[in-house]
Amino acid sequence: MSLLVIGTVAYDGLETPFGVRERILGGSATYIGLSASYLTKPVHLVSVVGDDFEQTHIDMLNRHNVRTEGLEVMAGQKTFFWKGKYHLDMNSRDTLDTQLNVLEHFNPKVPDSAKNCDVLMLGNLVPAIQMSVVEQLPTRPKLVVMDTMNLWIENTPEDLRKMLKKVDVLTVNDEEARQLSGEHNLVKAARAIRAMGPKILILKKGEHGALLFGPEDEIFFAPALPLADVVDPTGAGDTFAGGFVGYLDSVGDYSFDSMKRGLMYAATMASFCVEAFGPERMMDLTEDAIRARRADFAQLIQVG
Ligand code: AMP
Repeated sequence: MSLLVIGTVAYDGLETPFGVRERILGGSATYIGLSASYLTKPVHLVSVVGDDFEQTHIDMLNRHNVRTEGLEVMAGQKTFFWKGKYHLDMNSRDTLDTQLNVLEHFNPKVPDSAKNCDVLMLGNLVPAIQMSVVEQLPTRPKLVVMDTMNLWIENTPEDLRKMLKKVDVLTVNDEEARQLSGEHNLVKAARAIRAMGPKILILKKGEHGALLFGPEDEIFFAPALPLADVVDPTGAGDTFAGGFVGYLDSVGDYSFDSMKRGLMYAATMASFCVEAFGPERMMDLTEDAIRARRADFAQLIQVG
């Protein structure tokens, strides 16, 4: 099987109640790629960085079998930079700075080795760039999953609507679902969004888990594991998406039942991400640790 991931590769500045990092590896594609790499291979990454991007970070991605032929390094340009500060509850955050840098000129090129991917994961990016990747693929992947955010819902609604017609699964949080659909009630919001294109909607609810809405109005819930040590939620949503597509690509079964299992892997991977700053925890996971955490999840929702 094969997974193609597009999104940002970034440097982030992070402030949480547990500490500050001035400049740490980040970006939606970084988290998605790392998370998926524990569940499937190959994982192809398409993104862009500046020539300030450290080779050690590319080496780290490659060590995790994340292939970077599609990672363009733009000479004389700086890597995308984002800075966020979390509130005390760590469920909400403020964006303090966004420097698009290389993203202003990004024209993604999908390498030939990735063009026949089975699963395409469109991480958070300008919808027009997501579209240009879809248009480069000679055949439609078996599964197309997309993430987006309030910025694109507000600023480029028409491009976003066009993109929604091309995807099977959309992942958003409550607020984004309400904004996109104009419905406050989440069941109605899910119906309205599914009428826009995606057959399946995943609603991410942070520490309160995630809901999966299916084509026949089915609803499945995956909790988030209550953890004693949560230090930085950055990238949890992307890591969640990476777990979902990584699992589905590894099994090659895209049925609703398979997606339910995928949601459990998604929650498992996201539970690791929040335990350390940035993607640090996602760099040294083992199969045993993932298996044990997956078992903790099964335990959490089991009734006798
Ligand atoms: P998450 O916490 O899952 O929403 O993902 C956080 C990551 O998204 C950070 O590492 C940022 O670099 C990246 N990010 C922040 N703003 C944007 C944006 N406007 N477009 C794409 N990626 C972004």
